[in-house]
Amino acid sequence: MIFRKRTERRAAERAAAKLAEQREKLFFASDGGSMDRPIAVESASLVEPRALSQPCPKCEGALRLVSHDAVAHKGAMLRAARTQCSLCASPWTMWFRVERPLPN
Ligand SMILES: [Zn+2]
Repeated sequence: MIFRKRTERRAAERAAAKLAEQREKLFFASDGGSMDRPIAVESASLVEPRALSQPCPKCEGALRLVSHDAVAHKGAMLRAARTQCSLCASPWTMWFRVERPLPN
């Protein structure tokens, strides 16, 4: 039965890897996952808490902030919150655009 157990474990590992891959793809395709899809925030001070509220797309571990940079992209200034997972050490970048609400 050892063989069967090993097969089951491998199948579980494959399923977990596939799920992680899907979560990663979803992260890059959703808002904040790329420069062309930044998350709109009203103030730069909201960038870091928003980025850190997201768990690691790969393993759901807690992220820690590595740096917070301003980056010019297509004539707009974007904010890049660069984070790293505290569990699997994967690096992630979330993109933001600071949009001040128009005065009344
Ligand atoms: Zn992770």
